Amino acid sequence: MGQSYNVAVIGAGAAGLVTARELQREGHRVTVFEKANKVGGTWLYDSRVESDLLGLDPNREIVHSSLYKSLRTNLPRQVMSFMDYPFVKRESGDRRPFPGHEEVLRFLQDFARDFGLMELIRFGHEVIRVELVDEVSHEWVVESRTRETESRWESKEEVFEAVVICNGKNTEPKVAEFPGRDTWPGLQMHSHNYRTPEQFKNKIVVLIGNGPSAKDILKEISPLAKQVHLAFRGSDIMLINLKIYDNAWPHSPIECAHEDGKVVFQDGSIVEAEVIIHCTGYKFHLPFLKSNGIVTVDDNRVGPLYKHIFPPSLAPWLSFVGINYRVSFYLPFDQNVSWELNVTSEQEVAVSSPNAMSHPSEFCSNALVFRVIELQAIWVAKVLSGKVKLPTQEAMAASVEEFYEQMEKAGLPKYHTHSLQNDEGEYVSWLAAQSDIRPPKSWEEIRFFSFVKGIFGHGENFRETWDVDKWIQEIESSD
Ligand code: FAD
Repeated sequence: MGQSYNVAVIGAGAAGLVTARELQREGHRVTVFEKANKVGGTWLYDSRVESDLLGLDPNREIVHSSLYKSLRTNLPRQVMSFMDYPFVKRESGDRRPFPGHEEVLRFLQDFARDFGLMELIRFGHEVIRVELVDEVSHEWVVESRTRETESRWESKEEVFEAVVICNGKNTEPKVAEFPGRDTWPGLQMHSHNYRTPEQFKNKIVVLIGNGPSAKDILKEISPLAKQVHLAFRGSDIMLINLKIYDNAWPHSPIECAHEDGKVVFQDGSIVEAEVIIHCTGYKFHLPFLKSNGIVTVDDNRVGPLYKHIFPPSLAPWLSFVGINYRVSFYLPFDQNVSWELNVTSEQEVAVSSPNAMSHPSEFCSNALVFRVIELQAIWVAKVLSGKVKLPTQEAMAASVEEFYEQMEKAGLPKYHTHSLQNDEGEYVSWLAAQSDIRPPKSWEEIRFFSFVKGIFGHGENFRETWDVDKWIQEIESSD
């Protein structure tokens, strides 16, 4: 056994749960703070929406989950497994390869129960302050509050030796900016607050975005809506097949919106719309972290973080698990709407290519989250117990600086710091090597790129038409 510390974990979503398990396995004493009354985080569907549907009011009551009612995973269950805890098909459950969200929640609930994590979790405890109070003995104060009555909160301070932040990254909406947005008279919402399609019946809707949420919401509202207009960057390549809809049209981004209801796009087209849905992603939000300016969130860069996890000067006593996501950049190689494109590795252009930023189409998605968070959690737990050594503080800081410089040289915006882009496989292998883990050989083939390829290859109904089980079985049997 190595060193054992008193560690606070913030959040009991997938990242917090797997972190708690790994910390416990390494012999640390773990307390998980969870503001909800159940485990699951994002996967805990909540039919409520926020009072400000765009999420601009800082005083609104936050609804954590961004799931819509009909959501099914966009990754097969096999890659949402943990290494020694597969996401298996249960006799009485949702046995589809891309299951509904309820099935993911059950998987996480079972995971928490089977590894004895429920006893470690303080439900209904929202962390409102994490502050380093003693640098020498690395003492952190964690202040949490619980709701006593509708209007009264009780708060409490406790001291820990280490803190791991797993508070999620899909709750605080990032919204599109355009002149006239705040005076446009129609209904505006962020996809965070989209639940069901009924309210869009017979409406003229503008959807901003070109990612998985825009794609799913379009599919769901188009049979009811009068018209759907998609506004997105990089219009030279379209990642959503609009040809199958007879009431949906592509546009360039919104130029401005007028008080008479008109929405003007950069390509000059004008639509008199009633609803705008911003499917524009999320921002990191760490209101509770008081680090004397050591860790900041700047244009969605949480930093400085060594390998997206440890702030060099606070390592290993403060860490983050689960902040990565994935963006692929595609070169505009075809001027036409090109759903039928056959994505090959040549067309998925390395982000370091100077051309990649000329007119990229960005496809933001979830990366292979469960693999990444499990390996991050194992590394954090082993670093804390002293079994795995970190480089010196100076070396970690230099590595972060070098990474930022590389991003700048490649013309990558700061807000994509935590995107794993096209090097996800490399990052996963690097993380695994730190903890001396050899991931299954099949991981090399069953990786994000193969899913993009599969999704493109199988069309809009890929969840039904792609026999992903067979494909994965064949690869795994060669392990
Ligand atoms: P979360 O699940 O968000 O958990 C964070 C937890 O922290 C929550 O329980 C929250 O209540 C708690 N918390 C936050 N702040 C505090 C605080 N101050 N005090 C106490 N507790 C706090 N991933 C996939 O792998 N496959 C998919 O198909 C997929 N589809 C997705 C679809 C949508 C619409 C979205 C939004 C995400 C999707 N994801 C998908 C990504 C998903 O976010 C991850 O799968 C995973 O759930 C992230 O887990 P997490 O623990 O990092 O964050």
